[in-house]
Amino acid sequence: MMLERLYADVSPEVAAILDRALEGRELEHAEGLRLLATAGADFQAFCRAADVARTQDNGDDVSFVVCRNINFTNVCYVGCSFCGFARHRDEEDSYDRTIEQILEKCRDAVARGATEVCIQGGIDPQKDHKDYRDILVGIKAEFPDLHIHAYSPEEIDHGHQKSGMPLGEYLGWLVDAGLGTMPGTAAEILDDEVRKVLAPNKLMTARWREIVTTAHQVGLRSTATIMYGHIEQPRHIVAHLKLIREIQKETGGFTEFVPLGFIHEKNALGHVNIEGHGPSAADDLKLIALSRLMLRPHIRNIQMSWVKMGPKLAQMAIQSGANDMGGTLMEESISRESGADHGENLPAEEMRRLIREMGRTPIERSTSYEILRRFDDPANDPPSLEPGEERDLAGPRRFRNERGLARVPIHQIQL
Ligand code: SF4
Repeated sequence: MMLERLYADVSPEVAAILDRALEGRELEHAEGLRLLATAGADFQAFCRAADVARTQDNGDDVSFVVCRNINFTNVCYVGCSFCGFARHRDEEDSYDRTIEQILEKCRDAVARGATEVCIQGGIDPQKDHKDYRDILVGIKAEFPDLHIHAYSPEEIDHGHQKSGMPLGEYLGWLVDAGLGTMPGTAAEILDDEVRKVLAPNKLMTARWREIVTTAHQVGLRSTATIMYGHIEQPRHIVAHLKLIREIQKETGGFTEFVPLGFIHEKNALGHVNIEGHGPSAADDLKLIALSRLMLRPHIRNIQMSWVKMGPKLAQMAIQSGANDMGGTLMEESISRESGADHGENLPAEEMRRLIREMGRTPIERSTSYEILRRFDDPANDPPSLEPGEERDLAGPRRFRNERGLARVPIHQIQL
């Protein structure tokens, strides 16, 4: 009876929208807007409905991928207002990694169990299509089984323009060299009204769509993303989700959708943003929940970003519609240099712990969501840290002893 009273506080309008979503019907623009405006009992019911939808879509499995981010250059002149990563070539801390340096990072990643490397960089006008291909060829020569998830649509746009090839041919040329999937980043908000303020020199909505749909047509799957919590209005968020849904109905090429909260601390946009802060915890959970309810049944995988949210809020996202924790990353520069402070490395054992604490089953997956390992029983888990293992210890829940090396995760210390 008490529970009935709790749910009696949910407004009939919101209850009807959530019912429709749970019946598997597509939500309309006005319904998405109404859900973004929820508060109190309506907001709680919204998150709960998204959690139920996640169970319907994926059961209680929550996945992650063991991967390493590699940013091969931070030289970029595009000038996006939200970016704290880019440097001009003459700046002291600009860098441009050689193929050998990239391979060294791949070796380290593979030694630490990575099945994927995610490769992205700034848009360096001195680089061309051959530079992008050379990285793929170099990695595949040494690691033929390592999945390469690389090059945002902005980078594809740059390489394509330099190549002089038709777009489909250019993408196929990269696939032949070893490109496995493409990050659906550089999406921010897919509305030119917003893009012209955020990043006027970046590719516009039609070009992002052209690159992504052409990629899907040549068999190159991609993720899809949104960056929210800056100057956009709720209508832009809902329209963005509808566009992603439309593309997925057309191509079926998206592997997952990833809401990315704006990090405001160290970039130009954060300083002029009138609110003076990025998204709230409620905003983060609403984006996860709305993505689940608006994109189903066409996109089954909703990923949260632990880098942006932090591990604790990521756990709440698991209860608000997300079924994927993303990658272990091992190294992360783009969010960190905009001010994110949740670490660069979330090891697999931490992923498993966070997932289990929320009552779900951890799954290690491939980039394209094949199940690689199920971790049904903690007793069968691999050891947390193997003897002689050298890890990047910048991640959360690590400590450094006097000799500068941590060997034991804090949660394993018996008090
Ligand atoms: S977001 Fe990407 S394209 Fe924009 S300035 Fe930063 S590195 Fe360059």
